[in-house]
Amino acid sequence: MTARLIRIRRKEKEGRAQNYLKLKIRSRHMLGKTITMIICMLNILFNLATALSDSNSLSPDFKFEHHDNRELIHVLKQVAERCPDITRVYQLAEKSILGWPLSVIEISDKPGIHEPLEPEFKYVGNMHGNEVLGRELLLALANYLCWQYRKGNEEIQTLVNNTRIHILPSMNPDGWQISTDQKGGKDWLIGRSNANGVDLNRDFPDLNEVLYSEEQLPLHQTHHYFLGSQMIDHKLQPETRAVMMWILNNPFVLSANLHGGALVANYPYDESPSGKTQEYTATPDDQTFKHLAHAYASAHKTMSGKQHINCGGDDFTHKGGITNGAAWYSVAGGMQDFNYLGSNDFEITLELGCNKYPSEERLPKEWDINSKALLNFMWQAHIGIKGTVRETGTGRPLQNAVIKVHNITDGKDFPINHDVTSVRGGEYWRLLTPGTYRVTAMKAGFQPQSQEVTVTNIPHQEAQRVDFTLAKEPVYTESENSLEENNKPDIPNLSLSRLLAYMRSQERS
Ligand SMILES: [Zn+2]
Repeated sequence: MTARLIRIRRKEKEGRAQNYLKLKIRSRHMLGKTITMIICMLNILFNLATALSDSNSLSPDFKFEHHDNRELIHVLKQVAERCPDITRVYQLAEKSILGWPLSVIEISDKPGIHEPLEPEFKYVGNMHGNEVLGRELLLALANYLCWQYRKGNEEIQTLVNNTRIHILPSMNPDGWQISTDQKGGKDWLIGRSNANGVDLNRDFPDLNEVLYSEEQLPLHQTHHYFLGSQMIDHKLQPETRAVMMWILNNPFVLSANLHGGALVANYPYDESPSGKTQEYTATPDDQTFKHLAHAYASAHKTMSGKQHINCGGDDFTHKGGITNGAAWYSVAGGMQDFNYLGSNDFEITLELGCNKYPSEERLPKEWDINSKALLNFMWQAHIGIKGTVRETGTGRPLQNAVIKVHNITDGKDFPINHDVTSVRGGEYWRLLTPGTYRVTAMKAGFQPQSQEVTVTNIPHQEAQRVDFTLAKEPVYTESENSLEENNKPDIPNLSLSRLLAYMRSQERS
């Protein structure tokens, strides 16, 4: 090609470019509008595609990392800002020894309000400061619930609209700091305890001791063993006290406590009555607890089944990744037994893996392994039955009515010797596995009422509704109000129990 020809071509090109530029300037406004429209449409398409394809995703700005105590609060606030209609961040009544707040995020369609018959659920992480996976998974979970709710994930919307979820990512922020500062979380024990060196999962009032001794007494109480501060035989740590008050002041139905160092879902009792280090110690709700532990283990990608990873020593493969706490090793003063014996709450303890302090690179994989299980477990707050106890005629809600259950499946008759009680609005929740039950509501001064119920537990649906209306007794005496079994009064004589508790505390001091 000659030099002249090249010059002509270049001029032609420049001419075209100039013409294009003139055109662009003339139609700048039109073009601007078109581009905005295209971007909008692409955005809509992108969001639609993400919503359809990625029901497991977190918000794009969520970073898997080891959030320090300041960042933890920031993540919760970020979630609350993004989803103000379904979240509330609050703090427990006391701070850690070193002054960190024990921050909780509540996720519910009416944050801050207990809605009638809506079960309350809680997750607690990082009770042992050097067991950090639960802490990071719970931060991811809070982000996930908010993000998916906003994106229109129907399952998450149903769960959040019908459950009041409380998440405490770290019960031991001081331990986390100690563990991280010393040896970067690599030590098996450093940072496990709080800043006073106390293991918080041994610091709760030992209600099993009360249970095991009261079994010999004629008035055997089958619920709510915590009868006041006189039952505390040692000075509680502020973190324990804060969580204990949280447990006692809220109508929790179900919860889990997230740990690490093993891979297993552990259910009560944690403490054996004989003092033996390993002894299967079933609660009256053994069947339900096995189901609850299994609900986590089976939805977890490696906890149950052939993929189970043995952390050395304790092999739970053949047990489906679940274990009774005391059968594994007996623990006194643990949180899960306190929940069961001191309140209406059913709690299990989740050991999330061999490595207590996994690397940041490992965290996305752990989210993938645990996310379905975290959700499936929350859904279990809806198994069994729920309802209200009211006074006949007036419809007045009856608080502290006792709900007794007999399992009468296949013509048998087994009492489940652990009652739940109705709360302020007269509501109760009773977690049960499928079967037929005779359920009795009773309260001093009222005639007890029994109903036969067949529980089926349909996944992702609210618990079956069973309401009671109790007629007033003209004159109440204990014998009139007792059930058939052994003529024992089923309504606990609280004043006597209180007296016994007081006597016990006097013996100790
Ligand atoms: Zn632990």
